Amino acid sequence: MLVRRTVIVKPKQYGKFKHFVRDNVRKCIFVYNELINFYLTDRKFRNYKKELKRLIQNNGDKSRIVNLKTLLDNYSFTRMSKRNLYKYFKMLKETNAFLQDVPSVFLNSVFRRAMRTIENFKNKKTKNIKIKKKYSKFSITFTQCKIEHLDIRGRHGKVFIPKFGFINVRGFRKNLQIQKLHEVIVTLHSDGLIMISLSVTAKRNPRPFKYKDILGIDLNASNVLATSKGQIYPKLDLKSLESQITEIQQELAKYRKVRNKKRYKQRLRHKLVRLWRKVRNKRKKYQYQITQGLLEYEVIVIEDLKIKEMVSNNKLRTKQDPSFIYYAKRTNKSFLENTPGKLVEILTYKREETGTYIQKVNPVNTSRRCYECRYVDERNRNGHKFKCLRCGHEEHADINAARNIRKLGIDALGYKVAA
Ligand SMILES: [Zn+2]
Repeated sequence: MLVRRTVIVKPKQYGKFKHFVRDNVRKCIFVYNELINFYLTDRKFRNYKKELKRLIQNNGDKSRIVNLKTLLDNYSFTRMSKRNLYKYFKMLKETNAFLQDVPSVFLNSVFRRAMRTIENFKNKKTKNIKIKKKYSKFSITFTQCKIEHLDIRGRHGKVFIPKFGFINVRGFRKNLQIQKLHEVIVTLHSDGLIMISLSVTAKRNPRPFKYKDILGIDLNASNVLATSKGQIYPKLDLKSLESQITEIQQELAKYRKVRNKKRYKQRLRHKLVRLWRKVRNKRKKYQYQITQGLLEYEVIVIEDLKIKEMVSNNKLRTKQDPSFIYYAKRTNKSFLENTPGKLVEILTYKREETGTYIQKVNPVNTSRRCYECRYVDERNRNGHKFKCLRCGHEEHADINAARNIRKLGIDALGYKVAA
C-alpha cells in the first residue's frame, strides 16, 4: 500500500552544509520579517483610515483627527496585494547587497512562506502574525530534490539540495520503501541543529489488526489514557529532564539583567533548547508505542474531543471566577502535556496500515456514569477511585470511563451489545 509520510533525517557530514544553511537561513529570516512587516504596516494604516472616518462621522476627538490626518498624509504606503508584495520583495533583493549571494531557491521559498502566513492570518486560520527573532527556528522548503544511493538497511542515503549538491544523511526507516520524493524541508533550530524532513510517498506492508474486538479509550489529564481492557498508560516520567530545565531557567533568570556574560547565557539557552527537544522526542516516541498497541484492535472508540474548546472553557471560567485560575492552569498544562490531540492524529493516519476503524462518540457523562448499573452521579467519582453510590460497583475511574465509551461506540455502530 502507498502512504504519504514525513521522514526526518540528519545530515551526516556537517561542516560545509552547516555554513551554507546557517548563512542563508539567517538572511532569509530578515527577508521574511520585512515581508510580514509590509503587511503589518498596511494593516495598521488601513485601521487608521477606518478610525479617522469614524471620528469624522461622529464628530469625535479633534486632536486625534488632526494627528491621524498628518500621519496618513506624511506616510506613503502601498496597498497590500500579492503583486505589491512581490514588487517589494524584488526591491529588497536589489537594495540589500548581502542578499545577492543568497540562492534564489531560498528567497523564493521564503516569499511563498510569507505569503502563506499572511493568507492564513487573513482567512483567520491562525490567530496572530509575528515577526521572527534573529535566532528563531526557521525552515526552507525545496521542491526540486532527489534521493540517491538509498540504503534502507544501513538507513542512509544521499539527498540532493539545490545550489548545494548531494548531502549524506542518515535516519531512514527500514519499513518504509520510498517511492517518490515531493519536497525537502531544511530546518535550522535556534541552537544550530539542522534537520531535514522529506515529504514522501512510500510503500508500506500492511499489518492487519490482531483482535476482532472493540476497544474503548478514555483520554484524560491524569494518565495518558486508559482502555476498556483495563490497561492504564501512565504519564511519561520526565522528572529528571524537567528538573534540569528548571535549573537552567533559574540560572538564566539570575543573569537576566547582566549585560556581559553573553556567551554563557547563549550556551545556557542552547542547552535549554536541546532539553526541550529531548522532552518532545520522548513524548512522541511514547505516543507511537501506545498507538501501536491500540491499533491491534478492529474498532477503536474514542471521545470526540474538542480539546481547544475545553481549554478555552477553562479560560472563560477563569474570567468569571479568578480563584479558578490555579486549577485551570494546572489541568490545562497536564492535559496538553499529554497532547491527546496528537495521539488521535497519529491513530487516524496510522489506522490505514492495520485497517482499524475509529468511532468517535460524545463523551458526556462517561466519567460520572456507573458502567454496571448506568447510574449517573458526580459523587460516584473521587479522584482515581470510582464507587457507584447505587450498586457499589468499584473500579479505576478511567477504566470505568473507557468501558462507558466502548459501550457508546457499540451503540453508535449499531451492534448488539455484548457485555
Ligand atoms: Zn452502579
